[in-house]
Amino acid sequence: MRLHARTYTLEYLEPFVISRSADTSSQVVQVAIEHDGVVGYGEGAPDEHYDEAPDAARDWILEHVEPLLGDDPFATGAILGRLSQLPGQMGAKCAVDGALHDLIGKLCGQPLWRLLGLDRTPPPTSYTISIDTLEGTADRAARAASYKALKIKVGGPGDLERVRIVRDAAPNALVRVDANEAWTVESTRELVPELVSLAVELVEQPLPAADRDGYAELHADRLPIPIVVDESCHTLPDVAPAARVADGVNIKLTKSGGIREALRMIHAARALDLRVMLGCMNESSLGIAGAAQISPLVDVVDLDGHLLNRNDSHTGLGFADGRVLPGDGPGLGVDPVDAWP
Ligand SMILES: [Mg+2]
Repeated sequence: MRLHARTYTLEYLEPFVISRSADTSSQVVQVAIEHDGVVGYGEGAPDEHYDEAPDAARDWILEHVEPLLGDDPFATGAILGRLSQLPGQMGAKCAVDGALHDLIGKLCGQPLWRLLGLDRTPPPTSYTISIDTLEGTADRAARAASYKALKIKVGGPGDLERVRIVRDAAPNALVRVDANEAWTVESTRELVPELVSLAVELVEQPLPAADRDGYAELHADRLPIPIVVDESCHTLPDVAPAARVADGVNIKLTKSGGIREALRMIHAARALDLRVMLGCMNESSLGIAGAAQISPLVDVVDLDGHLLNRNDSHTGLGFADGRVLPGDGPGLGVDPVDAWP
Protein backbone atom coordinates (compact mmCIF):
# COMPACT_ATOMS: atom_id res chain seq x y z
CA MET A 1 0.00 0.00 0.00
CA ARG A 2 1.22 3.49 -0.84
CA LEU A 3 0.38 6.44 1.35
CA HIS A 4 0.03 10.19 0.71
CA ALA A 5 -0.77 12.97 3.19
CA ARG A 6 -1.54 16.66 2.91
CA THR A 7 -3.15 19.52 4.81
CA TYR A 8 -6.24 21.23 3.41
CA THR A 9 -7.54 24.69 4.38
CA LEU A 10 -11.27 25.22 4.96
CA GLU A 11 -12.62 28.79 4.81
CA TYR A 12 -15.73 29.36 6.93
CA LEU A 13 -18.87 31.02 5.63
CA GLU A 14 -18.89 33.18 8.77
CA PRO A 15 -16.67 33.47 11.86
CA PHE A 16 -16.82 30.38 14.12
CA VAL A 17 -16.81 31.56 17.75
CA ILE A 18 -16.85 29.40 20.89
CA SER A 19 -16.00 30.15 24.51
CA ARG A 20 -12.23 29.79 23.99
CA SER A 21 -11.58 30.75 20.35
CA ALA A 22 -12.71 32.67 17.26
CA ASP A 23 -11.62 31.61 13.76
CA THR A 24 -12.39 32.30 10.10
CA SER A 25 -10.66 29.19 8.72
CA SER A 26 -9.08 25.93 9.84
CA GLN A 27 -6.87 23.19 8.45
CA VAL A 28 -7.46 19.46 8.34
CA VAL A 29 -5.07 16.64 7.49
CA GLN A 30 -6.01 14.23 4.70
CA VAL A 31 -4.61 10.83 3.80
CA ALA A 32 -4.83 8.83 0.57
CA ILE A 33 -3.92 5.12 0.60
CA GLU A 34 -3.46 3.34 -2.74
CA HIS A 35 -3.81 -0.42 -3.20
CA ASP A 36 -4.22 -2.30 -6.50
CA GLY A 37 -5.10 0.91 -8.33
CA VAL A 38 -7.85 1.83 -5.82
CA VAL A 39 -7.51 4.94 -3.60
CA GLY A 40 -9.08 5.34 -0.16
CA TYR A 41 -9.34 8.80 1.44
CA GLY A 42 -9.57 9.83 5.07
CA GLU A 43 -9.40 13.00 7.15
CA GLY A 44 -8.66 14.14 10.68
CA ALA A 45 -8.93 17.55 12.31
CA PRO A 46 -5.94 17.98 14.65
CA ASP A 47 -6.97 20.46 17.34
CA GLU A 48 -4.58 22.83 19.11
CA HIS A 49 -6.73 22.48 22.24
CA TYR A 50 -5.35 18.92 22.40
CA ASP A 51 -1.80 19.99 21.43
CA GLU A 52 -2.18 18.75 17.86
CA ALA A 53 -1.48 20.68 14.63
CA PRO A 54 -2.27 19.85 10.99
CA ASP A 55 1.29 20.33 9.64
CA ALA A 56 2.79 18.22 12.40
CA ALA A 57 0.11 15.56 11.85
CA ARG A 58 0.91 15.39 8.12
CA ASP A 59 4.65 15.11 8.84
CA TRP A 60 4.01 12.42 11.47
CA ILE A 61 1.90 10.40 9.02
CA LEU A 62 4.55 10.62 6.29
CA GLU A 63 7.26 9.58 8.71
CA HIS A 64 5.55 6.75 10.62
CA VAL A 65 2.55 5.20 8.92
CA GLU A 66 3.53 3.58 5.60
CA PRO A 67 5.74 0.87 7.16
CA LEU A 68 2.84 -0.11 9.47
CA LEU A 69 0.34 -0.70 6.66
CA GLY A 70 1.52 -4.06 5.29
CA ASP A 71 -0.11 -5.38 2.11
CA ASP A 72 -3.61 -6.42 3.28
CA PRO A 73 -5.99 -3.45 3.66
CA PHE A 74 -8.67 -5.74 5.17
CA ALA A 75 -6.42 -6.29 8.20
CA THR A 76 -7.68 -3.00 9.65
CA GLY A 77 -7.69 -4.39 13.19
CA ALA A 78 -4.00 -5.29 13.02
CA ILE A 79 -2.99 -2.13 11.16
CA LEU A 80 -4.86 0.25 13.47
CA GLY A 81 -3.71 -1.79 16.47
CA ARG A 82 -0.08 -1.17 15.43
CA LEU A 83 -0.89 2.52 14.89
CA SER A 84 -2.49 2.81 18.33
CA GLN A 85 0.79 1.71 19.93
CA LEU A 86 2.27 5.08 18.92
CA PRO A 87 1.37 7.86 21.38
CA GLY A 88 -0.96 10.77 20.60
CA GLN A 89 -1.70 12.17 17.11
CA MET A 90 -5.39 11.21 17.23
CA GLY A 91 -6.29 13.47 14.29
CA ALA A 92 -3.60 11.81 12.15
CA LYS A 93 -4.76 8.34 13.23
CA CYS A 94 -8.35 9.29 12.36
CA ALA A 95 -7.26 10.22 8.82
CA VAL A 96 -5.52 6.84 8.37
CA ASP A 97 -8.49 4.94 9.83
CA GLY A 98 -10.87 6.75 7.44
CA ALA A 99 -8.69 6.04 4.40
CA LEU A 100 -8.55 2.32 5.26
CA HIS A 101 -12.32 2.09 5.72
CA ASP A 102 -12.87 3.98 2.44
CA LEU A 103 -10.43 1.64 0.70
CA ILE A 104 -12.00 -1.62 1.88
CA GLY A 105 -15.46 -0.34 0.99
CA LYS A 106 -14.25 0.52 -2.51
CA LEU A 107 -12.52 -2.87 -2.86
CA CYS A 108 -15.86 -4.53 -1.96
CA GLY A 109 -17.91 -2.10 -4.06
CA GLN A 110 -20.12 -1.28 -1.05
CA PRO A 111 -20.72 1.75 1.19
CA LEU A 112 -19.22 1.26 4.63
CA TRP A 113 -22.65 1.64 6.28
CA ARG A 114 -23.80 -1.42 4.32
CA LEU A 115 -20.69 -3.42 5.26
CA LEU A 116 -21.49 -2.59 8.91
CA GLY A 117 -25.09 -3.74 8.47
CA LEU A 118 -26.51 -0.28 9.12
CA ASP A 119 -29.28 1.64 7.40
CA ARG A 120 -29.23 5.20 6.14
CA THR A 121 -31.58 6.92 8.59
CA PRO A 122 -29.62 8.93 11.18
CA PRO A 123 -31.25 11.41 13.55
CA PRO A 124 -31.33 15.01 12.25
CA THR A 125 -28.10 16.96 12.66
CA SER A 126 -27.78 20.06 14.74
CA TYR A 127 -26.54 23.25 13.13
CA THR A 128 -24.18 25.42 15.18
CA ILE A 129 -24.98 28.97 16.29
CA SER A 130 -21.64 30.55 17.24
CA ILE A 131 -21.21 32.98 20.13
CA ASP A 132 -22.24 36.40 18.90
CA THR A 133 -23.93 39.62 20.03
CA LEU A 134 -27.68 39.48 20.69
CA GLU A 135 -28.31 41.04 17.24
CA GLY A 136 -25.82 38.69 15.59
CA THR A 137 -27.41 35.72 17.33
CA ALA A 138 -30.86 36.75 16.11
CA ASP A 139 -29.49 37.04 12.57
CA ARG A 140 -27.74 33.63 12.72
CA ALA A 141 -30.84 32.00 14.23
CA ALA A 142 -33.16 33.43 11.56
CA ARG A 143 -30.95 31.96 8.83
CA ALA A 144 -30.70 28.58 10.59
CA ALA A 145 -34.33 28.26 11.66
CA SER A 146 -35.16 25.59 9.07
CA TYR A 147 -32.82 23.05 10.71
CA LYS A 148 -34.53 20.51 12.95
CA ALA A 149 -31.85 20.91 15.64
CA LEU A 150 -29.71 23.87 16.68
CA LYS A 151 -26.63 23.85 18.90
CA ILE A 152 -25.93 27.16 20.59
CA LYS A 153 -22.36 27.86 21.63
CA VAL A 154 -22.47 29.52 25.06
CA GLY A 155 -19.95 30.64 27.65
CA GLY A 156 -19.93 34.29 26.64
CA PRO A 157 -21.96 37.26 27.83
CA GLY A 158 -25.74 37.04 27.59
CA ASP A 159 -25.96 33.24 27.35
CA LEU A 160 -29.55 33.02 28.53
CA GLU A 161 -30.75 35.89 26.35
CA ARG A 162 -29.12 34.27 23.34
CA VAL A 163 -30.78 30.90 24.02
CA ARG A 164 -34.11 32.71 24.36
CA ILE A 165 -33.56 34.46 21.00
CA VAL A 166 -32.81 31.17 19.25
CA ARG A 167 -35.77 29.43 20.86
CA ASP A 168 -38.08 32.24 19.67
CA ALA A 169 -36.66 32.00 16.13
CA ALA A 170 -37.07 28.21 16.00
CA PRO A 171 -39.94 27.22 18.33
CA ASN A 172 -40.10 23.62 17.08
CA ALA A 173 -36.39 22.84 16.78
CA LEU A 174 -34.41 20.67 19.17
CA VAL A 175 -32.11 23.11 20.97
CA ARG A 176 -28.82 22.10 22.60
CA VAL A 177 -26.19 24.26 24.28
CA ASP A 178 -22.42 23.73 24.41
CA ALA A 179 -20.38 25.74 26.94
CA ASN A 180 -17.01 24.27 25.89
CA GLU A 181 -15.85 24.20 29.57
CA ALA A 182 -16.73 27.86 30.28
CA TRP A 183 -19.25 27.49 33.12
CA THR A 184 -18.88 26.71 36.82
CA VAL A 185 -20.91 24.44 39.09
CA GLU A 186 -22.70 27.55 40.40
CA SER A 187 -23.48 29.09 37.00
CA THR A 188 -24.68 25.72 35.68
CA ARG A 189 -27.02 25.27 38.67
CA GLU A 190 -28.32 28.79 38.14
CA LEU A 191 -28.92 28.41 34.39
CA VAL A 192 -30.41 24.90 34.27
CA PRO A 193 -33.97 25.78 35.42
CA GLU A 194 -34.09 28.55 32.79
CA LEU A 195 -32.80 26.20 30.11
CA VAL A 196 -35.46 23.65 31.08
CA SER A 197 -38.15 26.32 30.67
CA LEU A 198 -36.76 27.01 27.18
CA ALA A 199 -37.00 23.27 26.37
CA VAL A 200 -33.25 22.86 25.90
CA GLU A 201 -32.54 19.20 25.17
CA LEU A 202 -29.06 18.85 26.70
CA VAL A 203 -26.05 20.76 28.01
CA GLU A 204 -22.66 19.87 26.60
CA GLN A 205 -19.40 20.20 28.58
CA PRO A 206 -20.41 22.92 31.06
CA LEU A 207 -17.26 22.57 33.20
CA PRO A 208 -13.56 22.17 32.41
CA ALA A 209 -12.59 18.57 31.68
CA ALA A 210 -10.22 18.62 34.66
CA ASP A 211 -13.06 19.49 37.09
CA ARG A 212 -14.18 15.92 37.80
CA ASP A 213 -15.35 16.90 41.28
CA GLY A 214 -17.56 19.58 39.74
CA TYR A 215 -19.14 17.06 37.39
CA ALA A 216 -19.69 14.70 40.33
CA GLU A 217 -21.44 17.51 42.25
CA LEU A 218 -23.73 18.29 39.31
CA HIS A 219 -24.45 14.58 38.83
CA ALA A 220 -25.44 14.25 42.49
CA ASP A 221 -27.91 17.12 41.94
CA ARG A 222 -29.84 14.92 39.46
CA LEU A 223 -30.39 17.93 37.22
CA PRO A 224 -33.55 17.84 35.07
CA ILE A 225 -31.45 18.17 31.89
CA PRO A 226 -28.84 15.73 30.58
CA ILE A 227 -25.17 16.69 30.85
CA VAL A 228 -23.09 15.40 27.93
CA VAL A 229 -19.28 15.42 28.07
CA ASP A 230 -17.13 16.15 25.03
CA GLU A 231 -13.71 17.51 26.03
CA SER A 232 -13.78 14.95 28.93
CA CYS A 233 -14.23 11.90 26.68
CA HIS A 234 -11.83 10.95 23.89
CA THR A 235 -11.32 7.16 23.68
CA LEU A 236 -12.79 3.93 25.07
CA PRO A 237 -11.13 4.16 28.52
CA ASP A 238 -12.89 7.53 29.08
CA VAL A 239 -16.41 6.11 28.66
CA ALA A 240 -16.89 4.29 31.99
CA PRO A 241 -15.55 7.26 34.05
CA ALA A 242 -17.90 9.54 32.08
CA ALA A 243 -20.85 7.31 33.03
CA ARG A 244 -20.13 7.97 36.72
CA VAL A 245 -20.50 11.77 36.40
CA ALA A 246 -22.52 12.53 33.25
CA ASP A 247 -25.56 11.43 31.26
CA GLY A 248 -24.01 11.20 27.82
CA VAL A 249 -20.83 11.33 25.75
CA ASN A 250 -20.05 13.27 22.58
CA ILE A 251 -17.90 10.94 20.47
CA LYS A 252 -15.82 12.48 17.67
CA LEU A 253 -13.67 10.51 15.24
CA THR A 254 -10.81 12.96 15.44
CA LYS A 255 -10.63 12.50 19.23
CA SER A 256 -11.09 8.71 19.18
CA GLY A 257 -8.59 8.12 16.37
CA GLY A 258 -11.26 7.04 13.89
CA ILE A 259 -14.26 4.86 13.12
CA ARG A 260 -12.95 1.65 14.70
CA GLU A 261 -12.50 3.15 18.17
CA ALA A 262 -15.71 5.21 17.84
CA LEU A 263 -17.72 2.01 17.28
CA ARG A 264 -16.22 0.47 20.41
CA MET A 265 -17.11 3.64 22.36
CA ILE A 266 -20.70 3.68 21.07
CA HIS A 267 -21.31 0.12 22.21
CA ALA A 268 -19.63 0.69 25.58
CA ALA A 269 -21.69 3.86 26.12
CA ARG A 270 -24.90 1.95 25.28
CA ALA A 271 -24.00 -0.76 27.81
CA LEU A 272 -23.58 1.96 30.44
CA ASP A 273 -26.95 3.51 29.57
CA LEU A 274 -25.37 6.75 28.36
CA ARG A 275 -26.92 8.99 25.77
CA VAL A 276 -24.71 8.77 22.68
CA MET A 277 -23.87 11.85 20.65
CA LEU A 278 -21.72 11.90 17.53
CA GLY A 279 -20.01 15.23 16.87
CA CYS A 280 -17.38 16.78 14.65
CA MET A 281 -14.76 19.49 14.41
CA ASN A 282 -14.55 21.96 11.53
CA GLU A 283 -14.18 19.38 8.76
CA SER A 284 -14.68 18.87 5.04
CA SER A 285 -17.26 16.48 3.58
CA LEU A 286 -14.56 13.80 3.74
CA GLY A 287 -14.20 14.04 7.52
CA ILE A 288 -17.96 14.22 8.04
CA ALA A 289 -18.49 11.24 5.69
CA GLY A 290 -16.64 8.94 8.09
CA ALA A 291 -18.91 9.90 10.98
CA ALA A 292 -22.03 9.86 8.77
CA GLN A 293 -21.42 6.17 8.03
CA ILE A 294 -22.02 5.25 11.69
CA SER A 295 -24.48 8.03 12.61
CA PRO A 296 -27.58 5.76 12.54
CA LEU A 297 -26.15 4.12 15.69
CA VAL A 298 -26.42 7.23 17.90
CA ASP A 299 -29.11 9.30 19.65
CA VAL A 300 -27.82 12.80 18.92
CA VAL A 301 -26.13 13.81 15.66
CA ASP A 302 -24.00 16.95 15.46
CA LEU A 303 -22.39 16.70 12.03
CA ASP A 304 -22.55 20.16 10.51
CA GLY A 305 -18.81 20.81 9.97
CA HIS A 306 -19.04 20.72 6.19
CA LEU A 307 -22.13 22.94 6.16
CA LEU A 308 -20.15 25.81 7.73
CA ASN A 309 -17.49 26.03 4.99
CA ARG A 310 -17.13 28.12 1.84
CA ASN A 311 -14.99 25.46 0.10
CA ASP A 312 -14.85 21.66 0.23
CA SER A 313 -12.32 19.01 -0.79
CA HIS A 314 -14.91 16.26 -1.43
CA THR A 315 -18.53 15.89 -2.56
CA GLY A 316 -21.13 13.17 -2.17
CA LEU A 317 -22.81 13.62 1.23
CA GLY A 318 -26.58 13.92 1.06
CA PHE A 319 -28.89 16.15 3.08
CA ALA A 320 -32.63 15.55 3.42
CA ASP A 321 -35.24 16.26 6.09
CA GLY A 322 -32.60 17.81 8.35
CA ARG A 323 -30.38 14.72 8.19
CA VAL A 324 -26.83 14.40 6.86
CA LEU A 325 -26.96 11.22 4.78
CA PRO A 326 -23.95 9.07 3.96
CA GLY A 327 -23.53 8.69 0.19
CA ASP A 328 -24.52 5.49 -1.59
CA GLY A 329 -21.12 5.22 -3.32
CA PRO A 330 -18.60 2.64 -2.06
CA GLY A 331 -16.46 3.23 1.00
CA LEU A 332 -17.09 6.58 2.66
CA GLY A 333 -19.20 7.59 -0.35
CA VAL A 334 -17.47 10.88 -1.22
CA ASP A 335 -15.23 11.84 -4.16
CA PRO A 336 -12.37 14.37 -4.25
CA VAL A 337 -13.02 17.58 -6.18
CA ASP A 338 -9.36 17.80 -7.25
CA ALA A 339 -6.92 15.31 -8.77
CA TRP A 340 -5.05 14.50 -5.55
CA PRO A 341 -2.91 12.42 -5.17
MG1 LIG B 1 -18.60 20.23 22.15
